[in-house]
Amino acid sequence: MTFIRHGAAALLALVLVGSLTACAPEPEPVQPKKPAAEQAAEAKPKLAKPEPQPEAEAPAAPAPTGFDRKAHSIDDPMSIWVVGNKLRPLNPVEFEPSDLVPTEGVANDNGQPLREVAARATEQLVAGALDAGFDVRVISAYRPYALQVQLYESYIARDGQAAADTYSARPGHSEHQTGLTVDFDDYGACYLASCFGETPAGQWLAENAAAYGFIERYPADKESVTGFMPEPWHFRYVGPELAAEMRATGVTTLEEFFGLPAAPGYAG
Ligand SMILES: [Zn+2]
Repeated sequence: MTFIRHGAAALLALVLVGSLTACAPEPEPVQPKKPAAEQAAEAKPKLAKPEPQPEAEAPAAPAPTGFDRKAHSIDDPMSIWVVGNKLRPLNPVEFEPSDLVPTEGVANDNGQPLREVAARATEQLVAGALDAGFDVRVISAYRPYALQVQLYESYIARDGQAAADTYSARPGHSEHQTGLTVDFDDYGACYLASCFGETPAGQWLAENAAAYGFIERYPADKESVTGFMPEPWHFRYVGPELAAEMRATGVTTLEEFFGLPAAPGYAG
């Protein structure tokens, strides 16, 4: 009996070691030790005209990939890269940004503020849209926790919780609460409707928002990743660098870009 138990323990240990090894990073290549004679030769003063050393010009490490995916936190609710979804409530859930400001010079239906960086970017985006011939207004921006509680409860009362969960974030899980998220409209017939993405204004936004630092947060065909139906009016400020990188790499959701688990539903 004892032998069998020990045997099983040994086998388990082997399996564990094996699986750990499989996940371990590649070991650094070990520099072979030079013979003592060669070391001594290197210690001698160099000749007046040393051989050119091409290694000196090459970077010591492999060329950097160019984009630092850790430049900002994805957990800190004050970070422009914070990722909130059905599995990632804001922490704390009643988080309130410290630098909310009103938008200036843009139509803002509910008068909701934004974090300063997102407010300025929104003003530039709306001006850019106007230059392109589209009169774009802000419908919804920062929504405090208490307001999200009210909205979510009213949706449950109207449609039931299962339906409400497909289009409204539970309190503490909405990126509107970060002060970095804006719902846009163009005074047309597709007010907060899926057809907004097919309007010229919606298409202009999808094409140009990245230049102002915004991404379409709930793109088409990504409901299984983001947990939300497509919302072509709902844009999230992440900064022009990340927005450009996502476009360049063709990755359309924050979850996929940062290697986070898909969040199709709430944990409980
Ligand atoms: Zn929204």
